[in-house]
Amino acid sequence: MRTQVAIIGAGPAGVLLSHLLAAEGVDSVVLDTRSEEYVASRIRAGILEQSTVDLLRDVGLGERLGREGDRHRGIHLQWPGERHHLDFVDLVGRSVWVYGQTEVQKDLVDAAHARGQQLVHEVSDTALHDLATDRPSVTFTDADGVPQRLEADVVAGCDGSFGPSRGAVPEGVRRTWARTYPYSWLGILADVAPSTDELIYAWHPDGFALHSMRSSTVSRFYLQVPNGTDLADWPDDRIWDGLATRLGHGQDGWRLATGAITDRSVLPMRSFVQQPMRHGRLFLAGDAAHIVPPTGAKGLNLAVADVALLAPALVALLAGDHALADAYSATALRRVWRCTHFSWWMTTMLHAGDDPFDRELQLAQLRWVVSSEAGAAGLAENYAGLPIGF
Ligand SMILES: Cc1cc2nc3c(=O)[nH]c(=O)nc-3n(C[C@H](O)[C@H](O)[C@H](O)COP(=O)(O)OP(=O)(O)OC[C@H]3O[C@@H](n4cnc5c(N)ncnc54)[C@H](O)[C@@H]3O)c2cc1C
Repeated sequence: MRTQVAIIGAGPAGVLLSHLLAAEGVDSVVLDTRSEEYVASRIRAGILEQSTVDLLRDVGLGERLGREGDRHRGIHLQWPGERHHLDFVDLVGRSVWVYGQTEVQKDLVDAAHARGQQLVHEVSDTALHDLATDRPSVTFTDADGVPQRLEADVVAGCDGSFGPSRGAVPEGVRRTWARTYPYSWLGILADVAPSTDELIYAWHPDGFALHSMRSSTVSRFYLQVPNGTDLADWPDDRIWDGLATRLGHGQDGWRLATGAITDRSVLPMRSFVQQPMRHGRLFLAGDAAHIVPPTGAKGLNLAVADVALLAPALVALLAGDHALADAYSATALRRVWRCTHFSWWMTTMLHAGDDPFDRELQLAQLRWVVSSEAGAAGLAENYAGLPIGF
């Protein structure tokens, strides 16, 4: 098999990259270990920043998002006894959209099928070769058990945190940074109308809680739990009681509505960055190069921002102009580190630990964010997202 760009990973980064390349007449083949249905049904991110929405609209992927996505002006920040609304539109002139990653993925895959894009699912033994040459290749075993070699001009590693691409950068070349947080999120999806107009981020001495949503009938909730939490220890009643307490059920007459839980999982919290994001003819994008804890809603948006830079860089490279490709890693990493800092900042501000001094610092920070226009605008600018190419 031969193509111009071999894309490893059919998550949002990989399929969006194939879409942007196709729009410029560049061929690609996308490989994934999982089935199309499995990738499409993974419950993950749900908030799109302004620049992600602008990009999806610009490339013809915004039709259903425009119809079914829910534009939010901001978020609520709260701690016991107080709830404050931050209006991003007033603060920085930008907003966010509630539109699940499942929906983004569906739109991307539908568009890929419509243009006859090759998405090769259920592959195994993916391995990268000859990245230092201009004839790199990817070998894999296809769903029928047949070994295959995909030759390309360029390989795009969009294979998330467990794929082989980041490890294909030699040890002496790559540098990594990692932080594991001392807590995880227990996330649920529930068939119940949201009890709030916009997301509630709640600091509480029992631990952080987030009230998010997916639609007018489906809500998404998260609870801070200790690492190693077993879902079996969290029956439905314990989850709803924890959410009611932390989100302030009864406070100023606010009530939390409950419903049938349709999905539940425990998500560890991690920051990770690997650089450079390019090695020879291999380019990394999305979770393959960086992971953020989900508190700042940045993971999916960062994957989109990487690909928005990478696509024109690859189009130019294939036409013989190396400048954008040479600048890709440094340019992408500016935003990656900004979002890594913001995600760390939101996470450490909102997750309660045992140290009473740390708790007072967190509350002092929260009070400043909601009472100072500069503090509120800083959060708003980062949450609603910096322009592509920042
Ligand atoms: C469990 C989980 C929960 C999350 N929850 C949230 C959340 O609640 N809120 C939030 O904002 N963000 C969340 N995120 C982050 C967000 O979903 C990611 O940042 C986003 O999916 C990144 O997209 P991506 O395309 O880079 O990677 P991915 O979506 O991970 O896609 C990578 C693809 O590569 C494929 N792959 C892996 N190995 C190979 C291989 N050897 N060969 C071929 N293909 C391979 C995978 O099957 C996958 O389809 C979550 C992430 C995870 C992992």
